[in-house]
Amino acid sequence: MALFEVAGGVHPKDHKELSAYRAILGVPLPAELCLPMHQHIGMAAKPLVQVGDLVSKGQLIGLCAKGCLEGGGSNTAITAPVHASTSGRITGIEMQRAPHPSGLSEIMVMLEPDGADVWGELPAPLDPKTSSFAELVARIQQSGIVGLGGAMFPTAAKLETRTRYDLHSLIINGAECEPYLTNDDRLMREQAPKIVDGISILQHILNVPEVIIAIEDRREQAAEAMRAAIGLREGMKVVLVPTRYPMGSEKHLIKALTGQEVPAGSLPSALGMIVNNVGTAHAIHKAVRYGQPLVSRIVTVSGGAINNPGNFEVLLGTKIGHLVELCGGFSQTPEQMLIGGPMMGVPFSDLEVPVTKGTTGILALTKTEVKPGIHRPCIRCGACIPACPCGLQPQDLFVLVSNEKIEPALEAGLADCILCGACAYVCPSHIPLVQFYHYGKGQALLMRQEVARAKRLKRLADERLLRAEEKARQKKAKQEARKQAIAARKKAQEAQEAQEGEGKA
Ligand code: SF4
Ligand code: SF4
Repeated sequence: MALFEVAGGVHPKDHKELSAYRAILGVPLPAELCLPMHQHIGMAAKPLVQVGDLVSKGQLIGLCAKGCLEGGGSNTAITAPVHASTSGRITGIEMQRAPHPSGLSEIMVMLEPDGADVWGELPAPLDPKTSSFAELVARIQQSGIVGLGGAMFPTAAKLETRTRYDLHSLIINGAECEPYLTNDDRLMREQAPKIVDGISILQHILNVPEVIIAIEDRREQAAEAMRAAIGLREGMKVVLVPTRYPMGSEKHLIKALTGQEVPAGSLPSALGMIVNNVGTAHAIHKAVRYGQPLVSRIVTVSGGAINNPGNFEVLLGTKIGHLVELCGGFSQTPEQMLIGGPMMGVPFSDLEVPVTKGTTGILALTKTEVKPGIHRPCIRCGACIPACPCGLQPQDLFVLVSNEKIEPALEAGLADCILCGACAYVCPSHIPLVQFYHYGKGQALLMRQEVARAKRLKRLADERLLRAEEKARQKKAKQEARKQAIAARKKAQEAQEAQEGEGKA
C-alpha cells in the first residue's frame, strides 16, 4: 500500500533496545493498590465501596452517576468505571497525589490484596456475531476500557460515533513512536491472536469493510506476528509506516495512510475513520470473550538509570516504586523520571504514585539522556519549523505565549499543536517549548471558560430582566382590569340607582 507524505517529524534515538527483547512478565502482588477514580478523559467515577469492604477481583468499585451501564446507546457518558484490580479489603478512601501534570490530589481507593487474586462473578461471555451493537458497546463501557495508547478516551464513547457518522475504516495504531516504549511491540509479538480477535470485534461493532494495522517499519517481528494472526481474514492488513516521531499520533497516522487531514477541532470519524490502539483491542478481546473488565495493562519500565529494564503486565493501582524494585532498583540517581515517553511524558518524583490506565511507560533517565534544564534565548535559527508535523511556526508560538498573547497565539495555530515535542527536541537553545504550549492552551481554556461564564451570567441577567418586565406587565394588566371592574361596577350601580329613581317617580 502506497503511503502519503507527512510533513515534519524528527528521528530521536529510540533506546528501544533497552527493553524490546524483554518478554512481558507478571508482577507479584504489591502490599497495597491505590486506585484513582479518575483514570480517563471525562467525568471522574465516585467510590461505590466503603472502608472495610471485602471486594473480589473485577468488582465494580467506582462509577460516575451519569455513566450509562444499561445497553450503550447515544446517552453513553464520557466516563469510565473503575474495578478492583485484585481481591482484598478496602483500607482507605482518600485524596492523594495523582500521576498527572497538575500534581493535584484526587480520590483514590486503597486496596489491601488478600493474596488469592481470584476473579469474582463476571458477566457472561458475548458472541460478537449474535450480540447487538448496543450490547457490545455496553460491555466495553461496563468494562472500563479506555484508549490504552495513553489518550485514555473512553472507548465506548468513541465507538458510538458509528451512530452519527458513515464509517468505512478502522485504523489500529501499533506505531509506538515514543522512544524507549516497547509495550505495544511486545504485546503484538506475544499476544497477536488475541489482539486480532479484539480487532475483529471492533470491525464487527463498527461495521467497516477495511482495517489497517499500522506498525513502524523497524518492528518486523511484531508485524510478522500480526500478519500470521490475521491469516485469511478479509479486509484486514498490516501496513508498515516510517519510523519517525510523531508517526503514532492519530492525525499523522491518518495522513500517512490515507492522505487525508483531520480538520482542527474535528474527529477522524468525520472522515469515516476510527483509530484504536493495539492494547485497547486486546482489552476488548478480554471483556467480550471472558467478561473481564480492565484491571491491568502492559507497562515498559526503562531508562539508563534502571538496573533491569523490562515490560510488565501490571495491575492498575500498583505503585511505581514497586515496579522500580522489581527492576532491581536504580543503577544511579535518576536525573529525571517520567510517566510515558521522553517526548510527551509527564515528569514525576514520587514513587508512591500508581500505574493507571494511561501509563504506557515509566522512565528513569540519566543526566546524559536528559536535555540540560537551563535553556538559552531563542536565536531564531528556525530549526523547529521543519520539525513541526502540524506545519506551525513553533518559535512564533513561543514568543506569543511567553508574552501572554494568547489570542494571537490561537490565531497562529496554538489549538492545532498536538504537544508532540518535536520542536523542543531539535531546539539548540533547549527551550522547553511544550511547557509554554501547555501553559498557553491552559490559558486559552480559562479564557473560553471565562467567556462562557460571562455569557451565562448575561443570559441569566437577560432572563431576570425579562421576568421582571413580564411581572410588571402582568401587575399593570391586573391593575387595569381591577380599575375597569370598579368602573363597570360603579356604572352598573349608577344605572341601577337611576332605574330605581325612575320607578319611585
Ligand atoms: S509541540 Fe506543537 S509546535 Fe512543537 S512540533 Fe509538536 S505540534 Fe509543532
Ligand atoms: S529551534 Fe529554538 S532557538 Fe531555533 S527558532 Fe526554534 S525556538 Fe528559536
